[in-house]
Amino acid sequence: MGAVLGDIIGVAVLGFLAFAVLSLLVMRTPVTPGFARRSPTTSSVQLRQDPNAGFIFDRGFLFRRRCWFVGTCCPPTKIDPRRQGEMHADQRARPVPLVASGGRVWWWFEGTFYWESGRYSERDVLALIRDRQRRSAQRLDRAHMLLNIDEGKAARPRGRREPIPREVRRAVFERDGGKCAQCASTFDLQYDHVIPVALGGATSAQNLQLLCADCNREKGADLLVTPASVRFGVSLTTASLSECRSSRPGSVSDSSPAAGCGLALAIPLDLSSSPPVS
Ligand SMILES: [Zn+2]
Repeated sequence: MGAVLGDIIGVAVLGFLAFAVLSLLVMRTPVTPGFARRSPTTSSVQLRQDPNAGFIFDRGFLFRRRCWFVGTCCPPTKIDPRRQGEMHADQRARPVPLVASGGRVWWWFEGTFYWESGRYSERDVLALIRDRQRRSAQRLDRAHMLLNIDEGKAARPRGRREPIPREVRRAVFERDGGKCAQCASTFDLQYDHVIPVALGGATSAQNLQLLCADCNREKGADLLVTPASVRFGVSLTTASLSECRSSRPGSVSDSSPAAGCGLALAIPLDLSSSPPVS
């Protein structure tokens, strides 16, 4: 009886040993994918989505379940499988930090992985992710709008134009002495396209002038000779203007108004799109 029991125990121990040895033979660290072997190339502080990131599950000693996290520039890093389960639940509600490697920290949020190099807090990460999502939604809206315009399903928005770059604004403001080019008023100044954008006028310092709101409004439907023409060293009358227009149609170019008729045309503008001086 005792001998039989001893045999059973012996077989059990041998079986267990064989099982353990087999598990050790089979067990190995997961293969590190190419994207994880790279080292970080940028040192700028940022948050980025990591499409390569994910979990690897395998079996370890005694065939116990193991979990690894792997990401771009992040070699497989062991994570407690139970922790992984908890994090899986948590990441639906808030960003969850996963692993730190090479100065980056990986986060999991709403089923997507991100890395950041700014030692951000959970709230920082949430704010940055929401900002990314907002911008990407705006880009998509804009892309759809442009596609609709291309396909003729939507009208090109009127009264919208590229904003005047800060350096150009500054140059125009300084050149015109911070006052209306027509009446020298310093009240309610606006940037005015001498040759309107609609006629091919450029948003350049050469084609911009400061006008007060009143002078801008007064430009009206008629062609006016503005002090801009004085800037180009040309003096002309309304007669010579019309003469020039009839003899050389379409010769007014935005880049060099003096090369065409030798004058600057001030044509009605829509005030709504003239950005005020900031
Ligand atoms: Zn004025």
